[in-house]
Amino acid sequence: MIDIGDRIAEIGNKIRHVASQNETQYALPRLVAVSKKQSIESVLAAVSAGQLAFGENYLQDALPKIASVSDPAIEWHFIGPVQSNKCRDLVTYFDWVHSVDRLKIARRLDQLSQSSRDPSKPPLKVLLQVNIDGDDAKSGIAPEELEALVSAVDELPNLRLRGLMTILRAGTDAEQRSSSFRLLRELRDNIRQRLRCPEQFNELSMGMSGDWQQAVAEGATMLRVGTAIFGERKG
Ligand SMILES: *Cc1c(COP(=O)(O)O)cnc(C)c1O
Repeated sequence: MIDIGDRIAEIGNKIRHVASQNETQYALPRLVAVSKKQSIESVLAAVSAGQLAFGENYLQDALPKIASVSDPAIEWHFIGPVQSNKCRDLVTYFDWVHSVDRLKIARRLDQLSQSSRDPSKPPLKVLLQVNIDGDDAKSGIAPEELEALVSAVDELPNLRLRGLMTILRAGTDAEQRSSSFRLLRELRDNIRQRLRCPEQFNELSMGMSGDWQQAVAEGATMLRVGTAIFGERKG
């Protein structure tokens, strides 16, 4: 049996090491522990080790875990494809949604935030998912269409648009990964200049178990790491 606390400490050390090699001094990225298809016990072990942010892809899989963690300091990040019929649960139970790629979904999250989100919670924070390397198998908006979506989502009063997210095409080498991550950072930096609150549009959710090193080097602010923390997923 792997010790989840040891894994979290180990990856934290590795992240600090890789970040310390950067020429540009980016702030240290946050680690989002991707607990999809992992047990409640695994999540609780990570919480005991001090892990604060968790990522989930599937609502039905996520809800029992969210219910079992009572600490209000724990943040839940939805990182899977968003369908309209999931939006009510997303605004009710989650703190972040990384995977918004259509205005229709953003509008629905905005409307439901007003009717269904606990008003004592801060507004839902959203990232726009960008299909940065033109992978037909992936969701995400094309880079050419991003600016229009950013402008429209930025107008929605009940959401907080905080940045961009990407998942890279599988099977690319380190150099290709670095250049895709760099492209996402440049998109963020170009677009934010045109927003009302540029300093709020600062997040780059990029990097997973297989490519987080390149993401750290390119200024990721959030790493979404599953397997390297929890081991292989069941099912
Ligand atoms: C599963 C998943 C991850 C984590 O992947 P690992 O390779 O297990 O680290 C990160 N982001 C998204 C969107 C995922 O679906």
